Amino acid sequence: MVKNIQAIRGMNDYLPAETIFWQRVEEMLKEVLTSYGYSEIRLPIVEQTPLFQRAIGDITNVVEKEMYIFADRNGDSLTLRPEGTAGCVRACIEHGLLYNQEQRLWYLGPMFRYERPQKGRYRQFHQIGAEVFGQQGPEVDAELILLTARWWRALGISKYMSLELNSIGSMTGRTRYREALVDFLTRHESSLDKACRYRIQTNPMRVLDSLDCKDPTVQALLHDAPVLTDYLDDDSRNHFTNLCELLDLARISYTVNPYLVRGLDYYNRTVFEWITTGSLGSHTTVCGGGRYDGLVEQLGGRPTPAVGFAMGLERLMLLLQAVNMDLIAPLSVDAYLVSSGNNVTSAALLLAEKLRDALPALRLMINYGGGSFKKQFSRADKHGARVALVLGELEVAAQQVIVKDLTTGNQKKLAQSKVVSHLILLLGFK
Ligand code: ATP
Ligand code: MG
Repeated sequence: MVKNIQAIRGMNDYLPAETIFWQRVEEMLKEVLTSYGYSEIRLPIVEQTPLFQRAIGDITNVVEKEMYIFADRNGDSLTLRPEGTAGCVRACIEHGLLYNQEQRLWYLGPMFRYERPQKGRYRQFHQIGAEVFGQQGPEVDAELILLTARWWRALGISKYMSLELNSIGSMTGRTRYREALVDFLTRHESSLDKACRYRIQTNPMRVLDSLDCKDPTVQALLHDAPVLTDYLDDDSRNHFTNLCELLDLARISYTVNPYLVRGLDYYNRTVFEWITTGSLGSHTTVCGGGRYDGLVEQLGGRPTPAVGFAMGLERLMLLLQAVNMDLIAPLSVDAYLVSSGNNVTSAALLLAEKLRDALPALRLMINYGGGSFKKQFSRADKHGARVALVLGELEVAAQQVIVKDLTTGNQKKLAQSKVVSHLILLLGFK
């Protein structure tokens, strides 16, 4: 027997019962982005590998372990994008979008990371993200946070989301901090595991991620480690203070988490994460972002301040499904077209097209493949139709149609030319 081919582990199919939910959520998210004046940018899924190595940093989890890298037929090294910012910056530089211009952009699409698949963690997942170029003040950082807070309100999940915030300062401050941290970690090397010891030289800040580590001696040790906040330069400190004030004014609550550094190298100053607790397991990040004022220059553009965030849609959907069932009522149609008789199906098809021309908002489904009227009506019910349109040979010959209100059971035979106004009345269309 031939073995069925299955999808790749960690890469999901999204079936109709789910896609309708995705579409609704994406619509809401896009509406909010548009209302803040952000425009969509669509980028390739594959980029040259060095783009991510340069942008994200060689010694990060993402680049070291998680990227899907393959050789193109001509030998070039290509990578399935693990995130959206690098490609967005590449495109903005390539198309000259940053010369004396401000850009407020958003993107949505699949990202790829070779991770161990589990709930909320997949190998192909989707992010919606925003990037703002050309503004260095904390107002934009605040705007992005307000925008995401508006998302949570629109989706009815504000109470499940909490904001963590930190400033990781400038490159110079971080270099000084790095020296102090390396010094501290080296002195306590014997308490650290092998992976952490390796990180002391390569990426010492990542050792702090081991704060999640269960070992109490490591925990205690890392709590005594130097804190980045103490190494902030004055400008970064003021920037952060101003951001906090703006958030206070806008009544956004947050926790300053001095250990929040984020996994990618390009960040500076503000970093933030929206965390959810409970339904997704303890402490899951749904959305994360921050400033990356050095990245444009690092990728060959003119120095341009920038700030952005990305949200994982699968994690958002898991949360929504757990807490807000309203959004996931299955898609229903307004009307279901039932037919029987010789050559009636083609007449049904044409009538449906005319109705769609006249009423673009009408959700109308046609019954195909015949079946008794009883069967066809039960299909109409299954699809949640409020109205059935019935066509038989007699109706086709007389250019008529029967319109049945499925809520009251009342039905009426009408000239086909009168159906539109009757449907408007029955369905309450404007
Ligand atoms: P984590 O710490 O959970 O691995 P991350 O710091 O790697 O997350 P980012 O690179 O900041 O994640 O990506 C932003 C968002 O994208 C995350 O908050 C999450 O919602 C989502 N995300 C990241 N990796 C995955 C994945 N493998 N599967 C599903 N969603 C993901
Ligand atoms: Mg990760």
